[in-house]
Amino acid sequence: MKSALSLSPLVSIQDGEIVDAARAQRIKSNPTALMFIVLGENLREEEVVRTVSEQTDMPLATVRRDFLKLRSELNANALVNVPARNIKEFLWNLVHAAGSLIQGRPAVWLSPHLTRMPIDTSSLGSAFTSTARATAPLAALFGLSVSLVFAAVQALAMQADADPLVNQHLLSVVAGFAVTTAIILHEAGHAFTLKGMPTVCVRRGMRLGLLHPPQAKLKSDLTALAGPLLCGAFGVATTFAVSFLGSVWLLPVPLIFSLQLVGLTVLSEDGRNLIAGRPKAVSWVRDAP
Ligand SMILES: [Zn+2]
Repeated sequence: MKSALSLSPLVSIQDGEIVDAARAQRIKSNPTALMFIVLGENLREEEVVRTVSEQTDMPLATVRRDFLKLRSELNANALVNVPARNIKEFLWNLVHAAGSLIQGRPAVWLSPHLTRMPIDTSSLGSAFTSTARATAPLAALFGLSVSLVFAAVQALAMQADADPLVNQHLLSVVAGFAVTTAIILHEAGHAFTLKGMPTVCVRRGMRLGLLHPPQAKLKSDLTALAGPLLCGAFGVATTFAVSFLGSVWLLPVPLIFSLQLVGLTVLSEDGRNLIAGRPKAVSWVRDAP
């Protein structure tokens, strides 16, 4: 059974308040919202709506609207995880957006759900494995996209019969693999500096980030630095290795990892936080890669 929602990792209800350990915050909540959350954790969406409607004598449509609005607000604030949209909802969204465009109205596209996943920072090993588990699906999707673009460019170059790189068929596979591992290592770099802190990974659409309680300025700078710097260091090290080996098909590895050094400039969220001296709880990795 798919319950209507689940409290996100490190979120709990205590004494009538929503407690978020990853932000070190307590959020006051009204009794109706708490009832929706408790029922939503145990029942499917339609059962929650029917139960509350029976208990409060409110029309089903009103209860459904209130429940979905609350759930969407809680999800946008990373307090609850919600079930993934099914294919029916996706198609409805597509048809609705197309209809709006045909009628000349701005198309409303449902924003992607936000999913929060646990990160175990008790040791470096567990920080790496839990970060890899949380980030791998999206990282692999990025990697696959890069592989396809590489393969397409190579196919075009082959037709033009111009580039000696076209014979390096492994290039696109290596590029995709490097992108996937670079994203995982970037986030793991941030997680390594958060030892013992309650931390979660947050994914929304194509964006990833870590959420953790606010830290002192120096510690927060170190966390922001660690992601891009770890990948950059690996990039520089592999530059030497690849030039020593002279293997052209390995070139994407140093290139993609070194590119992460852009994360130390204003071009990325990590860099802007560092320069502005902003201690920011969520370090979105739009910069990767
Ligand atoms: Zn980052």
